[in-house]
Amino acid sequence: MSHSSVLSSLSKINEKYRMFRTVTSETDAGDAKFLFSAKDNLTSKDMETCSGSRILEGYRPPFDATSIAKMREAGGLLVGKTNMDEFGFGTFSTNSAFGVPRNPYDLERSCGGSSGGAACAAAVMEGHVAIGVSTGGSICCPASFCGVYGVVPTYGRVSRYGLLDYGNSLDKIGIISSNASDLGKYVEIMAGADPRDPTSCVQPAIGARRKLKSVAVPGDATEGVSEDVKKAFKDGLEALKSMGVDVEKVEMPSLRYAIPAYYVIATSEASTNLARYCGMRYGHQDGDLSLKFDDYFTSFRSQYFGEETKRRILLGTFTRMVGFRDRYYSKARRVRQSIIEEYRSVLSGCDAVLTPTMPFVSPKFTDISKMTPVESYKADILTGPPNIAGMPHASMPCGYDRDGMPIGMQFVANHWDEGVLFSAAEEWEKNFDAVRPEVSI
Ligand code: GLN
Repeated sequence: MSHSSVLSSLSKINEKYRMFRTVTSETDAGDAKFLFSAKDNLTSKDMETCSGSRILEGYRPPFDATSIAKMREAGGLLVGKTNMDEFGFGTFSTNSAFGVPRNPYDLERSCGGSSGGAACAAAVMEGHVAIGVSTGGSICCPASFCGVYGVVPTYGRVSRYGLLDYGNSLDKIGIISSNASDLGKYVEIMAGADPRDPTSCVQPAIGARRKLKSVAVPGDATEGVSEDVKKAFKDGLEALKSMGVDVEKVEMPSLRYAIPAYYVIATSEASTNLARYCGMRYGHQDGDLSLKFDDYFTSFRSQYFGEETKRRILLGTFTRMVGFRDRYYSKARRVRQSIIEEYRSVLSGCDAVLTPTMPFVSPKFTDISKMTPVESYKADILTGPPNIAGMPHASMPCGYDRDGMPIGMQFVANHWDEGVLFSAAEEWEKNFDAVRPEVSI
């Protein structure tokens, strides 16, 4: 399919799968080298940027995020902004204020979250490159649920300039695609020091591709994981062994504390970041100006923020309150440090830590609606650890359950060692029998 014919079919595709919040009005791809989409929390000059939230409806940023600017400079055409959980708060993209993307393998199921629209676009449109963002799992989770490849580079590798912050110390911009070779190719385009994001400034160059020779599997990697995921993961391990990769078992006892620590740090940061959305600067500004300023802000935020967003503001404000800060926020930071040290020590003896990506296959929307918030937070049990540690990681498809739903496995490498993940993905793709979803529009 030519680029221009993809452009003309976007709206139809979107009607069925709902991956896009905004679709370009461009119908002629001109001499574009590739088509890409960006998660709706990255600013772009020519399209609204709402981060999946009503409160930002109508916000048109006057500048491109660095990641988007670099993709355009490399010859990419931005075709749309993808649906996501509001501000990245979620695991199933069901907390989106605009549209909930539908899994191309079964429309009654989720695409994962919070970059659900991105993974959906990558799965549905062969050759499409989707920019996703991960704070605590939002690239690997949807990549796994949609049977595609997803990579999260080291924290600081890609500039966060133009990203609407969720948790500044956690947010990472990466790539989702159905082609393994796109991971390295497009991360290399987006990466690099940017004076507008100081956390991106000190970074070693992305090293040459390095063959994956050994992986470590934590002893409790499949604890609480569904039988289908266990089986696909075991098959994945056997396949890796037959590709000449050494597999060893290790103990990583700190990893089980990643989720509580992550939710404390992430919500603490989010609750301060969201203070700027108060009906004065961005998006809707149609509140009742005769109100006192705090009543104005409260009425505005009550009206336009979704339920999960309100929950996280309350939680994050609580965890950094005087009197509770040491008990929660400071303790969570210490947990984070021990997780980093544990990864470093294991990765000094092997190339990557390997686990399944998600504990189960993509659930049905009817089941998601019955989940409590804590049940859905627990779904991040395997994707949380590398995110809190800022380690680069990638999800690759490794099998399908009895209903044909995709299952993924997650490789975690040492800081700045993306090269080993890129080559592992390329090698794996040659050996894995992928089943593409049947796409009809
Ligand atoms: N599911 C996690 C959360 O809700 C991670 C989301 C993300 O990475 N943005 O916070």
